[in-house]
Amino acid sequence: MRRKIGNEAVFALLWQQASQIARSDAKLLIKAALVTRRDTPAKVVAALRGFAAWRLDRCARLGGAWLGGAWLGGAWLGGAWLGGAWLGGAWLGGAWLGGAWLGGDGVPLCEIGTKLRCNCHGLGLTCGFSHFPRSRAMKLAPFASGHPFFRGNLHGHSNLSDGKRSPQQVVALYKAMGYDFTCLSDHYMAGLEISSPSVPDSRPLRDERFTTLLSAELHCPGKKYDRRGLWHIVANGLPLDFAAPTQDESGPELVRRAQAAGAYVSIAHPEWYGMTMDEAMSLAHADAVEIYNHSCLVECDRASGIAVADYLLNEGQRLHFNATDDSHLGIDDFGGGWVMVAAERNEPDLLLAALKAGQNYSSTGAELHDLSLDGDILTVRCSPAVSVAVAGPGEVSAVAMGPNLTYAEIDIARIRARQGYFRVTVIGNGGARAWSNPYWFDALNQA
Ligand SMILES: [Zn+2]
Ligand SMILES: [Zn+2]
Repeated sequence: MRRKIGNEAVFALLWQQASQIARSDAKLLIKAALVTRRDTPAKVVAALRGFAAWRLDRCARLGGAWLGGAWLGGAWLGGAWLGGAWLGGAWLGGAWLGGAWLGGDGVPLCEIGTKLRCNCHGLGLTCGFSHFPRSRAMKLAPFASGHPFFRGNLHGHSNLSDGKRSPQQVVALYKAMGYDFTCLSDHYMAGLEISSPSVPDSRPLRDERFTTLLSAELHCPGKKYDRRGLWHIVANGLPLDFAAPTQDESGPELVRRAQAAGAYVSIAHPEWYGMTMDEAMSLAHADAVEIYNHSCLVECDRASGIAVADYLLNEGQRLHFNATDDSHLGIDDFGGGWVMVAAERNEPDLLLAALKAGQNYSSTGAELHDLSLDGDILTVRCSPAVSVAVAGPGEVSAVAMGPNLTYAEIDIARIRARQGYFRVTVIGNGGARAWSNPYWFDALNQA
């Protein structure tokens, strides 16, 4: 997790300290009021002086601790306030020396300090330790980053291979549908009759609002149950000079070569062409499994990659998910499956880095708005759903039922007890889905 100290962290500390001041002020004012009723004016003045001095002291800590010092590896060290204030002889000066320990999100966990005070009664020295209790809830990817989401299609074809529309028409269609990015992942293999001559150059089709990922659907021999005996491997983020795969390359080698060239590589439409579990295992070093392929839904109702993905996860492999169109645009096979990527900006390199890091969710229309984990309680915010299901290794799962569920707290203790991973599926009121990427308990424990 990236350590940062920003305005939020400062405001969090200021708010905590201001709350403490407010509570203590209230107590002291009540005490002063009681004194007023029972005691002499001199004692009332003394009480008010005490209150004012105490308050100044708190304000000094509040301001001074944050105005001086150094940020070193997660610790706030050496924040100091030196100075004082004159108030009716009660307060002459003081100092606070100490530090606050901040969590990885920059929010203070505790502070320790030494306070030197001098007033008309002499000098005083106190040491103190304060602990700031906090929620243990951990936001999960892709929501922890705080980045905006960009909607994109990672798999689609133009007439550079067997698609029916030109690259310009493909991009215009995705722009018109409100996407932020798409790709021309045309078929690519030396000697293949439908192959694009090279990795399609979609750069001229980018503008200030819309971008493209340089992509291709790579093929090579070795796949059972394909009429040409070819693997289908989608690679997003290829260099334009990526050499066409040949008859001599194997699927596992092709995945490695595309990754070495910088691509985010997906196991395409496993259900559509009868991928065996052994074949899936041989590509388990890919980045992701295409768990939904829209053209495979409309053409033959073989859209899913979930069974293959779960098999790989059960086998201890670590891959992410994506949903795509695989549009060819001869029929209505577009706008059905997409990814929502959390990235700093809508730029190819940032989108690819986010995808490789699992900073996305997959969708056919439902939305995930937030995911966080506090102990065994998973909190999900989403578009209106009939079901929010959490799946873990083997058969273990947990669920919250709607309809119209937009917030759910789900106990996943049974899943955690099995170790391994969990993943979240939102089934919307109309049947559309959103899938989180898998989360691994050991990685979360280290975060
Ligand atoms: Zn394919
Ligand atoms: Zn395809």
